[in-house]
Amino acid sequence: MIDLRSDTVTKPSPEMRSAAAEADVGDDVYAEDPTVNELEARVAGLLGMDAALFVPSGTMGNQIAARVHTERGQEVIVERESHVYKWELGGLAQHASLQARTVDGGERGVVTPEAIRSAVVEADDHRPGTGLVCLENTHNSKGGRAIAADAIDAAARAADEEGCATHLDGARLFNAATALDTEPARLTEGVDSVTCCLSKGLGAPVGSVLAGDEAFIEAARRVRKLFGGGMRQAGLVAAPGLVALENRERLATDHDNAARLAEGLAELEGLAVEPPETNIVLCEPDRSAEAFLERCEAAGVLGVPFGEGRVRFCTHLGVDRDDVEAAIDRIGSHGGAGG
Ligand SMILES: *Cc1c(COP(=O)(O)O)cnc(C)c1O
Repeated sequence: MIDLRSDTVTKPSPEMRSAAAEADVGDDVYAEDPTVNELEARVAGLLGMDAALFVPSGTMGNQIAARVHTERGQEVIVERESHVYKWELGGLAQHASLQARTVDGGERGVVTPEAIRSAVVEADDHRPGTGLVCLENTHNSKGGRAIAADAIDAAARAADEEGCATHLDGARLFNAATALDTEPARLTEGVDSVTCCLSKGLGAPVGSVLAGDEAFIEAARRVRKLFGGGMRQAGLVAAPGLVALENRERLATDHDNAARLAEGLAELEGLAVEPPETNIVLCEPDRSAEAFLERCEAAGVLGVPFGEGRVRFCTHLGVDRDDVEAAIDRIGSHGGAGG
């Protein structure tokens, strides 16, 4: 089976497994795990932030950030297709008692300064006030769009002028940096905090990192504990995360493979394919997305339904160019998207 459902389906490499086995550990709730401390320092540096916090998942990183940046009852501005709004179980309401206000980021999921200015509400006797703006890069639901530093800066500046903090959901920030040929830290210059996932394209078995300034991370550490994310000898899972950081260099391969997949699929009849910018390929069969996915599975290729009649395929370090060519051939010879 060629598994293109997500870049989270990768298995840890032998190197990651031995790094876990040999990791120097301590109690991370006392901040005494040297491997976790090393990972946090490394990622803070890569993201151009003062400090960082290892968290079990990207979802927890985003939820902690929302909680730390806001006061109960405030509004938070989110892109209407963003992960933090759409795929985190309404956590903004459950964990931080926030009211989400959506803005439309258009085809690429870019939140503009104008959108922020018109969505902000000022606190008064009737309105709660806006506390936070959330951005996402790459934008998953829009097909892994890599959003340029200027657009992130402009949104963060507008948020700041309105007295709001900015959190960047950078689950795939390293993919964005690769696609834009820039340093990850350049993409976070304007924002107050950022989450990145080690367990997606980088291939770690577990974990994400939340980064920000010292005061933010100190508060985030308490909220992590509150949310049940305080882990003890977490160096066992942080060690593969350190190894995973080396995989940043090969993300361009995933992007090339996604481009080839899109090109091959675009030749199939009855299938509209969006040209990818990173490792996510979205396509829309003329007829049923479910039937198309069933035929893909019968042919030995897995994707996922992605709403509005669309299908998502994701390239990752578990598939190489031969797998991509095989996926194109198999889908083509099983009747493509027709019928
Ligand atoms: C996957 C993802 C997350 C959440 O990461 P988990 O580790 O699965 O909780 C957050 N944001 C985006 C954009 C994602 O794609």
